[in-house]
Amino acid sequence: PFDFRGKHVTVAGLGVSGVPAAKVLHGLGARVTVVNDGDDERARTQAAELETLGVTVRLGDGATLPEGTELIVTAPGWKPDKPLFTAAHEAGVPVWGDVELAWRLRDRDGRKAAPWLAVTGTNGKTTTVQMLASILRAAGLRTAAVGNIGVSLLDAVTGDEEYDVLAVELSSYQLHWAPSLRAHSAAVLNLAPDHLDWHGSMEAYAADKGRIYEGNRVACVYNVADKATEDLVRAADVEEGCRAVGFTLGSPAPSQLGVVEGLLVDRAFVEDRHRNAQELAEVSDVNPPAPHNIANALAAAALARSFGVSAAAVRDGLRAFTPDAHRIAHVADVDGVAYVDDSKATNTHATEASLAAYESIVWIAGGLAKGATFDELVAGAAKRLRGAVLIGADRALIREALARHAPEVPVVDLDRTDTGAMLQAVQEAQRLARPGDTVLLAPACASMDMFTNYNKRGDAFAQAVRELGA
Ligand code: ADP
Repeated sequence: PFDFRGKHVTVAGLGVSGVPAAKVLHGLGARVTVVNDGDDERARTQAAELETLGVTVRLGDGATLPEGTELIVTAPGWKPDKPLFTAAHEAGVPVWGDVELAWRLRDRDGRKAAPWLAVTGTNGKTTTVQMLASILRAAGLRTAAVGNIGVSLLDAVTGDEEYDVLAVELSSYQLHWAPSLRAHSAAVLNLAPDHLDWHGSMEAYAADKGRIYEGNRVACVYNVADKATEDLVRAADVEEGCRAVGFTLGSPAPSQLGVVEGLLVDRAFVEDRHRNAQELAEVSDVNPPAPHNIANALAAAALARSFGVSAAAVRDGLRAFTPDAHRIAHVADVDGVAYVDDSKATNTHATEASLAAYESIVWIAGGLAKGATFDELVAGAAKRLRGAVLIGADRALIREALARHAPEVPVVDLDRTDTGAMLQAVQEAQRLARPGDTVLLAPACASMDMFTNYNKRGDAFAQAVRELGA
């Protein structure tokens, strides 16, 4: 294990990962300096707390490399082209992210380190990791869903709680800064353009995601329908005996998991030598049983099975799983119309998945487009749209795509971005809907033009639906 005693470590960025990292490093005997770009109220409070421990904090200067730095531990969101990293590179100073730090600390104190089952992808990470944790728990394993959700990775590896295995969500940023991470098995769920401003190009984004497969011991799990994920497996340098395992919504080939007549079927990890497939669960055990979510369940099952989990535990774990709020959450039925909140669909790739899950949809969309284009999304969903209600700053982009690819679909363009707009949007959607339809909030955009975050946007939707029913 790395000896931190007396080492000059610079932590780049306060905040969710920086403050705990600084505390842990300080606790291990490192001489810690935190550098932070901003010096607002929140930063000052955090700085004051760290300073009482003996950590040095430099606010308002995240660019200069402190004298004597031997290691940088950076917040994952810091862009690789920052001057701090250029300086570090020139001085030969290594840079670790929060995940790399957790990975290096995982086997301290002679405790047996828990293996990691890791998940990345453009969409579905949180859901898949939570399904995976639910399956592992059903198998009687001590585990936690860690990453952007629940327990932080650093807490999971340095805290008192002991784990048999961890279900780890990793972003492309975190993977960029985690060069020595070696998972037991890992999955890339899908790859669509996202965060390209940070990574610089689609190639660089894909390469960072692909790091999750490097050094895998048992299985590299990929999406048969998304060839880019399979290409990443082929490019990865893995341990001998590590297998490529695909998941598909179709019938599985050997070494794949898939769907046969309403059943999730495993043809990669079959215990019984006399059979060539193992039934795991029914499609209806997956909540919600939408296509993209069945794919998530198959990926979670593949990772769990690579760790030796039984078919029965996969079924029990999937049944016990309930999705987080604002992810295709059924809010209510009013007059035979279902109202569904997928406020977490903040990009077109996620929205494509939720529009594919329903037959006849009144679609509520709009917000901040983040440079996205909507032609493909709208063209693919046109046949299933009963109508559309548009809100938010960039709604004209969606309106124009609808005019091009779905000219017959009625569109209500709400020219307002105040919070009350959501109630009006839901009322307009109710007017367009027929019994059997689904009113779907799947904005394909970020929420910050109208709401603090996607949670608040989803809450406003649910509140508006309740007012309809009242
Ligand atoms: P992440 O953690 O990657 O952001 P979440 O599980 O929180 O993913 O889901 C985010 C959004 O993506 C949700 O709105 C959901 O409808 C959509 N989504 C979930 N799984 C998938 C998938 N496999 N493919 C495409 N979209 C998905």
